This record gives sequence, C-alpha cells and structure tokens, in this order.
Amino acid sequence: MIWALLLSCRSDPGWLIEPEAPGDEACPPAPPIPVAPPRQLPIQIRVGRGLDPDRAAWHTRWGAAWWRRRGVVWQIAPGWRRTPDTPPLAGSPGADIDALLAPLAHAVQRPAEPWIELVFVSELATPTSPASHWFSPLTGLAVSPALPHGDDPVAQALGALADGATPTVFLALGAADRLPDERARFVLAHEVGHALGLVHHREAGNLMGPGFPRCAPELTPAQLSALQLP
Ligand SMILES: [Zn+2]
Repeated sequence: MIWALLLSCRSDPGWLIEPEAPGDEACPPAPPIPVAPPRQLPIQIRVGRGLDPDRAAWHTRWGAAWWRRRGVVWQIAPGWRRTPDTPPLAGSPGADIDALLAPLAHAVQRPAEPWIELVFVSELATPTSPASHWFSPLTGLAVSPALPHGDDPVAQALGALADGATPTVFLALGAADRLPDERARFVLAHEVGHALGLVHHREAGNLMGPGFPRCAPELTPAQLSALQLP
C-alpha cells in the first residue's frame, strides 16, 4: 500500500504535454517554440492532499507552454510531492495583512533553493475572507525574493515572507476552476512572472495586466529585458 502510494507520487501526469488551444480562432497565432531557448527554469511540484494531480497538470501544461514560447523552458524535477492543503487565508475581520498571510509561512521553504516551488492548493481564500479585501479574486499568489518589496502593505508583507525563502507559487485549484478554461490557462504563467520578479502592469493583454485574458498575453520589451530574454 505504502509502496503503491510512493509509486503514484512518482508518476508524471503529463506536466509538460503541449496543450491544444480551445477555439482560439479569434486570437493571434502563438509564437513558435524557440529552437534554442535562452533560459531553463527548475521547478518542483507539490499538490495538496486530496487534490487531483491531473488538474494541477492542466495548469502546469498551460503555464509551461506559454513560457516555452517566450524562451523559458520549465524543468520539472522528477516526481512530485503531496503537501498539506494550505489553510485558506481566512483571518478575522480587521486582521492586518501580515496576520492574514501567516498560514503561508509554513508552506514556504527555507533556506532559499535555486528553483521555484509550485504548490497547488484547493483555495487560498474564501470570498467572505478579509483576504478578499486585499486580493480579489485570490486564484494565485507568488512569494518570491525576486519581487520588489514595494510601498504597499501587501508587497511588503509578501516581501517579508519571501525573505530567505525559495520562490513559491501557490495556485488555488478551486478558484481557478471557477473560471472558464480559456481564461484560467494563463493564471499560472502570470504567477510565475511574479516569481521571476515581474510586478503588475497597467495594460490588459499583458501577462502581468489586470483581468483574465482570453488570448495569450504578451510581455513588453522592458519586461523581456528585465528577464534577460530576447
Ligand atoms: Zn498578480
């Protein structure tokens, strides 16, 4: 039984299969996959207990495919781990942002390792949580030393959490599943953008822009050069 469980955690649910775009006729064609990608991105995957690894793989495929076409190849470490399903950022009314983010401290790995931890959980916050005042909707969250600490309380609290930690991307499968597939498929790419140090961008249609784009979002030349990509 234990052996069977171990084996099931080692099987690859197809993290990097190239996804088929659902009805993308109205979208510009995807850029070709570069022959010699300039950057490798090591990633380790953890899936919350009780969650379906195939659903996690669906998001991973889309995130990896988006970045692969921009020159960043995700190197998924062999095997993946189960992890406690991180408690939602419930908080009590009036809780400050540091108290709200405290449950995530246990899910962030210290000391810092040279890869990104990709952590799939069921939810990060419920719609009635005070967290929804700070983040709305809370589909994904990145904790990364590469992100500037910034002036606003959220960026500062995330910065404190990220200090000396392995960059970690959380994706709430429940919240993501409430989006239509064609809008959910770029959420993980956006969060990995944060993990690599990108902040939000004003324009819709940008990977770091507002909303959930239906067509594959883009990066500006400034964002690409910050990532040292052509
Ligand atoms: Zn964001």
